[in-house]
Amino acid sequence: MQKTDLIIIGSGPGGYRAAEYAAGKGLQVVVFEGGALGGTCLNEGCIPTKTLAHNAEVLLTLAEANELGIENLQFGFSFSKVLARKQQVVETLANGVATLLSQPGITLVRERACFVSDKVVKAEVSGEEYEAANIIIATGSESKLPPHCNIDEGAVVDAASLLSIESLPQHLCIVGAGVIGMEFASIFNAFGCKVTVVEFLKECLPAVDDDIAKRLRKSVEKRGVEFFMQSAVKSVTNAANGMKCVTFERKGKEAVVEADVVLMAVGRKPRVAVVEGTTIERDERRGIVVDEHFETSVKGVYAIGDCNGIQMLAHAATMQGIHVVNRILGIADSIRFDIMPAAVFTHPEVACVGATEQQLKDSATAYKALKGYYRANGKALAMNASEGVVKLLVDDSSEGNILGCHIMGAHAADLVQEVAALMNCRATLADIHDIIHIHPTLGEVVGSLSPTLPGREGSTN
Ligand SMILES: Cc1cc2nc3c(=O)[nH]c(=O)nc-3n(C[C@H](O)[C@H](O)[C@H](O)COP(=O)(O)OP(=O)(O)OC[C@H]3O[C@@H](n4cnc5c(N)ncnc54)[C@H](O)[C@@H]3O)c2cc1C
Repeated sequence: MQKTDLIIIGSGPGGYRAAEYAAGKGLQVVVFEGGALGGTCLNEGCIPTKTLAHNAEVLLTLAEANELGIENLQFGFSFSKVLARKQQVVETLANGVATLLSQPGITLVRERACFVSDKVVKAEVSGEEYEAANIIIATGSESKLPPHCNIDEGAVVDAASLLSIESLPQHLCIVGAGVIGMEFASIFNAFGCKVTVVEFLKECLPAVDDDIAKRLRKSVEKRGVEFFMQSAVKSVTNAANGMKCVTFERKGKEAVVEADVVLMAVGRKPRVAVVEGTTIERDERRGIVVDEHFETSVKGVYAIGDCNGIQMLAHAATMQGIHVVNRILGIADSIRFDIMPAAVFTHPEVACVGATEQQLKDSATAYKALKGYYRANGKALAMNASEGVVKLLVDDSSEGNILGCHIMGAHAADLVQEVAALMNCRATLADIHDIIHIHPTLGEVVGSLSPTLPGREGSTN
């Protein structure tokens, strides 16, 4: 049995960043990784999807060439080159994670780990045991299947498999219009595939402000993606002709979509199996139970990132890990976990931070909604990206404390970051008006938000 200061299980953005930070602060760290270095984010999540999303943008930009007088532009593209570029990006970053985890103070064990007791972790194959006063579980999540749905073997793929598919499907049917479903719909539509989305709920992106979610769905629909909302998928079966049949019930009637590839994107569930046999409290659906400092029911054992089910985002996993290391070292920090910006990398992009309008209505909070439109912004018009809106929610005080911001449009994720930074500083609408924004930039849409200026909409609850 070897003793160390900190054991980390999982090398995703939660685990590897925590390891780097802890080792930098002088702790001896043992990291276990049973799969690929970098976790879901690097290998089958954020990075590969954003690499494909970039290539999708390139194709959409090429499609604008007729505006330059280049008529009947014909272009084909090699999907295998798209996949090769994605792989190259993943490998470059994976090498970076490998280098980072080889720094002094970190021992990397390339094996699955399991608990022997609350403070002892064993490498499953070699049987080597490590003991530490502090353990961070960062085992991530896995895709889940819809309940009450009969699925033939091999009839569906998950996001990881779709990212490595050898050739483009003619018709891609996506079950689920959450973040993953919408991103793939946008990407494969740009690649020229027919895309159909079947969703149980009334609107896509349930965690996003309704207004913005609806705008995005309409925009993606205009590009040719077909949506069946309020539709419960009953089965996905293999047809004799090699096609897959997605049968769903909509408004009391049964309907079938036939596609050559079906992506199941109905959400992800926390990976909690690692705590079996321990006293660490867990909920199969919601994840490993933690307090506000991500400490589990066993003192000194923490669960960060997707496995605690709080916010399944790479940057949430990273910052939770940093906070835990700070707690272990007795360092106070001021990370605001209630201000968690998030983005959906569709075309157009969507991003948000803070409360949605519905949440403010539900909590009877008095607020004002201010909207600024890309169509009135010089840079947006110059970029041919006039489709977009910034919605800022402020309280009804004279300064206007910022409660939330929701954006659909080009570079929404970059724009929302400014508002997230301001919310971290407890800035107000009045402060936004005092900030000078470069001209011409999309950021001027944020800077110009005002209930009083002409051409902008402001409404009060
Ligand atoms: C298609 C897709 C797109 C996404 N896009 C984005 C995005 O744009 N932005 C964003 O913020 N988030 C995105 N996400 C979510 C993001 O990937 C996750 O939130 C993030 O990876 C969670 O990090 P983590 O460290 O908690 O876990 P993970 O990244 O899942 O890493 C967990 C690691 O633990 C390892 N592990 C598990 N059990 C054991 C064990 N017993 N022993 C040893 N190792 C173990 C696994 O092999 C894995 O490497 C996306 C996800 C998907 C699926």
